Amino acid sequence: MKTQMKREKSIKSVERIVPPPPKHWVGDGFNVHGFFPHGPLTGERMSPFFLLDYGSPTDFPPREEPFGVGPHPHRGFETVTIAYKGKVEHHDSRGNGGVIGEGDVQWMTAGSGLLHKEYHERESNRQGGPFQMVQLWVNLPAKDKMTEPKYQAITNPEFGRVALENGGEVEVIAGEFDGVKGPATTFSPVHLCNLKMKKGERVELDYPAGYTTAILAIEGSATLNDNETLPTDNLALIERDGEHITVDAIEDNILLVMSGEPLDEPIAQYGPFLMNTQQEIVQAMRDFQMGKFGQLD
Ligand code: MN
Repeated sequence: MKTQMKREKSIKSVERIVPPPPKHWVGDGFNVHGFFPHGPLTGERMSPFFLLDYGSPTDFPPREEPFGVGPHPHRGFETVTIAYKGKVEHHDSRGNGGVIGEGDVQWMTAGSGLLHKEYHERESNRQGGPFQMVQLWVNLPAKDKMTEPKYQAITNPEFGRVALENGGEVEVIAGEFDGVKGPATTFSPVHLCNLKMKKGERVELDYPAGYTTAILAIEGSATLNDNETLPTDNLALIERDGEHITVDAIEDNILLVMSGEPLDEPIAQYGPFLMNTQQEIVQAMRDFQMGKFGQLD
């Protein structure tokens, strides 16, 4: 006799569907919708995430000089760059560099700080073509803000992978989906995955109550919880309450799903510095001016 009760999970409702904000340029290489922090999607509301820039598909002309953004510092958080179309090249003041290939992810822990440049990979830049990427900033807990900078260069074949019934799949980048873990290590609980669904497919998402959750429609559209439509290029902000979301593919789609435990710590931000107090921001600016982030031409 089966005695174990299956507990019904409550629905994580859609709080709002956010249409793409007007695009802006980061340098001359990244033409992005800045979904947050923006309007009601504050850094506090989106914690442990802080910023989401979505470079929806943009065609770049062939050019010898790489499109991109010049040397700039970061301190106190992590940048997660996902290349959906095109390739991103980077190098930093500590001598690190590399290429984020199409379909790959770079999880950079800025920690105590570095200077870096981000630009279109040289060969693909010469050829021109479509470019589509995401950059997500993941905040660091206060105790880890000054951790040693490091990179996790994660290629697409290294992702956790879950096959879906109709031929689609889930790529797990961090945390887990359906018991399959992603390769990225994180400083606080974070789940990040790409749902690559075929039309008519249903996926069930489960995250703890209290987690911050959002879903970005990279390609195609979906129905959430049987009653909310998530169109292409839109972001669904999900209520923190509840534990369960259903996703139905209206058409073939790619959805980036992020969910994480809020840090519940004070946030102080100035440009590329993300700390807990104003005093730490002043210190970061002073360290930057004194060259403590290193040199990069
Ligand atoms: Mn950067």
